[in-house]
Amino acid sequence: MKVLLVGGGGREHALGWKIAQSPELSKLYLVPGNPGLNHLGETLPLSDGDIEAIADFAAESKIDLVVVGPEAPLAAGLGDLLRDKGIACFGPDRAAAQLEASKSFMKDVSKAAGAPTAAYGKFTDAEPAKAFLRDQTAPYVIKADGLAAGKGVVIAETLADAETAVDDMLAGQFGAASASIVIEEFMHGEEASFFAITDGKTIVPLLDAQDHKRAFDGDKGPNTGGMGAYSPAPVFTQAVYERTMREIIEPVVAEMAKRGTPYVGVLYAGLMIENEKPRLVEFNARFGDPECQILMRRLRSDILPLLYKAATGALDGVTLDWSDDAAALVVMAADGYPGSYEKGSPIDGIDTANQLPGVVVFHAGTKSNDGEIVANGGRVLNISATGATIDEAVERAYAGIAAIDWPQGFYRKDIAWRALEKR
Ligand code: AMP
Repeated sequence: MKVLLVGGGGREHALGWKIAQSPELSKLYLVPGNPGLNHLGETLPLSDGDIEAIADFAAESKIDLVVVGPEAPLAAGLGDLLRDKGIACFGPDRAAAQLEASKSFMKDVSKAAGAPTAAYGKFTDAEPAKAFLRDQTAPYVIKADGLAAGKGVVIAETLADAETAVDDMLAGQFGAASASIVIEEFMHGEEASFFAITDGKTIVPLLDAQDHKRAFDGDKGPNTGGMGAYSPAPVFTQAVYERTMREIIEPVVAEMAKRGTPYVGVLYAGLMIENEKPRLVEFNARFGDPECQILMRRLRSDILPLLYKAATGALDGVTLDWSDDAAALVVMAADGYPGSYEKGSPIDGIDTANQLPGVVVFHAGTKSNDGEIVANGGRVLNISATGATIDEAVERAYAGIAAIDWPQGFYRKDIAWRALEKR
């Protein structure tokens, strides 16, 4: 099978690492890939935003499967372009990617499907939005409707701050993404993520995970793309799993099919769990980064038939083999991230870390300068590890960190604290 993988972060390194292990792979093409990934295939001189050029290349080169990592090309319609040309694509088309790209669409679909989620209102004018806020209690949740690079959510403690957020967003704080806003009831509980793959009808459940969004230890500091993750998440019990499938994933997949916009790809549900009851916080139309990396570490089955069957409506009867090992991942980020940071500092020790028991290092924001790896982004390296217990996985991931020589980087020292506290 000829496969084209779109994206160049840690998530795509993990997907490519797993795809490259498949006996069914004949050739892997990468757009744009990264220095950890590029030796596994051929890198094309395109970026992941060049959706027309990607679709043309896939058609000309008779690519069997395109796997799309990030959300932006999906929301821009890469899935539609590929399917129009008869090319199998793992990832939803534009209409179905609205589950992530539009908060109000996601809320409407969830409501129609009966999936438990926070009560909400959608607004394009400040006055009705503020009237709605006055009927809520603190804390107040205000969200830009569209994609705002993970920054479009404000949790305000006071009504005054909430009203300011409404004014700022509707005045164009996030451009077109906040021309309309959603105000939600605040949900209490513990957050976890759950992933499932679907071909539009059949659903193959993957695993649960928890991540760490804040930059610093103790969940302090600004929000980031994610500073670490682990799986399994103790809060995600069998009862929570069953309710998540029955009350959220199955009805939402059925609702999308009923609307004539079947969802194809991985559905990532962000959940708030209280007393073993999951409620939906958000959907994403792609794997989480860094959650994907630890899911790939725990997946024993060949991933390629799974992705291909999802893309071609053939998931019926597919089951997966998972490792019982736990997996943990620690992100190394450039000093200053998620604010401004410098690029170009050299990184040593990746090969040494990769030789440690259970450790695999995935590249994210790196660049190769004549063979020397240098930092080239905010989140730079992902040190993942598996182990018989979560303690062992975490210990091994930090042993990997210790082998890396990169003085300009930082990382959290408390990854998986929730799981370690509960065991
Ligand atoms: P979202 O981009 O919708 O996932 O929101 C980002 C983060 O804000 C979530 O991961 C939660 O921590 C928090 N959040 C969003 N919506 C709610 C809500 N209705 N209740 C409580 N927390 C929320």
